[in-house]
Amino acid sequence: MSTIKFFDQVNQNFDKAAAYTKHDKGILSQIKICNSVYHITFPVKRDDGSITTVNAWRAEHSQHKLPVKGGIRYAPSVNEDEVMALSALMTYKCAIVDVPFGGAKGGIRINKNDFSESELERITRRYTFELIKKNFIGPGIDVPAPDYGTGAREMSWIADTYNSMTDSNINAFACVTGKPIPQGGVRGRTEATGRGTFFGIREACDIADDMKRLGLKPGLDGKRVVVQGLGNVGYYAAKFLQQGGAVIVGIAEYEGAIYAPKGLDVDAVAKHRREKGSILDFPGAKNLAKNSEALELDCDILVPAALENQITMDNAGRIKARIIAEAANGPVTADASEALLAAGKIIIPDMYLNAGGVTVSYFEWLKNLSHVRFGRMNKRFEEDVNTRLLRTVEEMTGKKLPKALFDTIVHGPDEEDLVNSGLEETMISSYRQIREVKHQHNDAISLRTAAFISAINKVALAYKELGIFP
Ligand code: NAD
Repeated sequence: MSTIKFFDQVNQNFDKAAAYTKHDKGILSQIKICNSVYHITFPVKRDDGSITTVNAWRAEHSQHKLPVKGGIRYAPSVNEDEVMALSALMTYKCAIVDVPFGGAKGGIRINKNDFSESELERITRRYTFELIKKNFIGPGIDVPAPDYGTGAREMSWIADTYNSMTDSNINAFACVTGKPIPQGGVRGRTEATGRGTFFGIREACDIADDMKRLGLKPGLDGKRVVVQGLGNVGYYAAKFLQQGGAVIVGIAEYEGAIYAPKGLDVDAVAKHRREKGSILDFPGAKNLAKNSEALELDCDILVPAALENQITMDNAGRIKARIIAEAANGPVTADASEALLAAGKIIIPDMYLNAGGVTVSYFEWLKNLSHVRFGRMNKRFEEDVNTRLLRTVEEMTGKKLPKALFDTIVHGPDEEDLVNSGLEETMISSYRQIREVKHQHNDAISLRTAAFISAINKVALAYKELGIFP
């Protein structure tokens, strides 16, 4: 386990990239620093009448663009350093995918499995109330989202609490993203981070030169994948990778790991876990004694999608995967990254690869501010244009298209189509941008350093536009 603090590790990576830029020292230190951290402790009444004290944080790393944005995590390991580090990654992530937000992150130090639903609701509402009191939440201030241990349910409690405290604000529901659809959520947000992870991996695998260097064929087809964490990000990433032609040979969860060289069906494993309470003993798969063993399995792509500090100097030398796709935030420590790169592997960095969540959160925020569902204005119009066009072609050629094909071509985009298409475009163009920066440095830098350079340049430009720095 690395002894270097998480935020220091992020800053080590930052410094390495900053050395390739020409920005003034002052602006670099302003970009790097975490602007504000709020630590709250509050009492919660348990269902049995006892009182427990809860520690929670919200860090706002950079207000160069407003609102600031970042998830809220519920985990026993949450601490101030972690929240600050994750908020910094959010700043760089938003810059990389050109989402106009500053970075933030929140966390509550609890194991969600130790609390009932009503206790979790009380904790979430109280946390939101504390954020409102200190101006740490609001559609133009700070907009949280789901992260490890939270989802649409928690976001709906936050939205409802904020809305009930600020009833004259017609944009109140834009105070948080990742909400259920009836509360202003956007279709495709739940799957967004996993889907974005898939698009990012697919794009990386499509670059023939890079694959050749790894001794792999271009394309996703047949690539052997191991996924750590079958939660929101890991499940959807695994599912889309499988649909895209990859073979999921290993899955690790909290309770253990399973391995099947011929491939695992992701939905069947998820169903098995729901029914049996564990991924272990999945028919046709081999159980691994320790879940961390899955990281060292023979595969082409390793997708850590659980928590930070999973690949350290302790196990980096035993990682067999040639591509490490960081779906989680900070799964590879800075020193382990160096070791993996020295061994000729490719690391697709977290601040790019898991940016699908914040990208679709951006779409949700825009939907909430515009008060109109994506596709509402243009879907039928486009269908009418397409229908007229096809009918004209049919009349001119004297041939009729089969109905199913006709309907597919005519189909106008609905909200989910537009969201997924916007996400795909973002993940592809951002990967190409990072790859181009790497190329400009004669491929002598990593994708992570290239991503940092790109982010630093964009944030520095934003500060200059604000007139704060010359
Ligand atoms: P989640 O709570 O939905 O799922 C995480 C899963 O990992 C859980 O099922 C948990 O049991 C499992 N897990 C924990 N420790 C493990 C271990 N040692 N080995 C194997 N499995 C383990 O969380 P999530 O939302 O999927 O987040 C996962 C990671 O992705 C985090 O680093 C988070 O910051 C990052 N992330 C999430 C989002 C999002 O939209 N949810 C966006 C960007 C980044």
